[in-house]
Amino acid sequence: PAAGAEVAKPGLLGRIIGREADEPRRVMDDAMLENLEELLIQADMGVDTALRVAANIAEGRMGRRISTTELKRALADEVARIMAPVARPMPLYPKRPQVVLVVGVNGSGKTTTIGKLASQFRAAGKQVVIAAGDTFRAAAVEQLQVWGQRAGVPVLTAPEGSDPASLAFDAMTRAQETGADLLLIDTAGRLQNRADLMEELAKIVRVIRKKDETAPHNTLLVLDATTGQNAVNQVETFRKLADVSGLIMTKLDGTAKGGVLVSLADKFGLPIHAIGLGEQIDDLAPFDPEDFARALVG
Ligand code: GDP
Repeated sequence: PAAGAEVAKPGLLGRIIGREADEPRRVMDDAMLENLEELLIQADMGVDTALRVAANIAEGRMGRRISTTELKRALADEVARIMAPVARPMPLYPKRPQVVLVVGVNGSGKTTTIGKLASQFRAAGKQVVIAAGDTFRAAAVEQLQVWGQRAGVPVLTAPEGSDPASLAFDAMTRAQETGADLLLIDTAGRLQNRADLMEELAKIVRVIRKKDETAPHNTLLVLDATTGQNAVNQVETFRKLADVSGLIMTKLDGTAKGGVLVSLADKFGLPIHAIGLGEQIDDLAPFDPEDFARALVG
């Protein structure tokens, strides 16, 4: 970035060694390391990951002079290195339909993400079916129908309060009969009653396996970047409820830079398939570790 831009917006590291123009190089000492740790924790990386990242950056640099630019580059490189192995698009299998179960707490962006995914796969020439499996939330079903219309994809629904597993079974039948490539199944996100939710998800899996014992082929957990470190708890919880195979992080277009993704990659190593960058149908992008690292470091 140009020096002018740096002065206008110091970014994550400007606060450690000052703006480049004022203070070009400072010795990397314990105080600087502590500052760095503190900033990484504030950036939602979590204590363990923040300390490890800071230590890796300090290694070989203690007692030596470093500029903001060098420190930024070191941090961006370290973050990109951690994120590279988890940056993987959702795998496509030669299965018809490929069944994608979408889980996550209410408000995380499940419905929106399903709409975006449906639209992308449709644009890639795939035949897609959506099952509105959160049968207890009429608003979610309506939203999904709107997204289905936008994406040009049929949305299967069931009466409010009816059994989501039975809808999933019907959707599976329909997708098989019509030769659909993909079946996207929305699910409930009520964490208030985990035992119920676990039973509900398990039953959906049980019935779709009656039609294809290898299904679901993907279980995507949708996370909201604005919830910060809370996303770690959500991954822990949903891994107990379902066999999560990959993550999508939404709302990275706002002020949240998604530092929590670094701790998720570090802790769980689950693939990050895509990121949500807005409320419109095209606002779903592949996860790029370098872009992410640059945006995080600022
Ligand atoms: P659900 O309850 O998990 O199904 O969540 P919704 O899909 O209904 O999303 C909740 C809110 O977040 C809605 O207002 C969406 O428009 C919004 N939203 C979802 N994804 C994104 C995103 O990537 N960026 C932004 N800015 N808003 C999003």
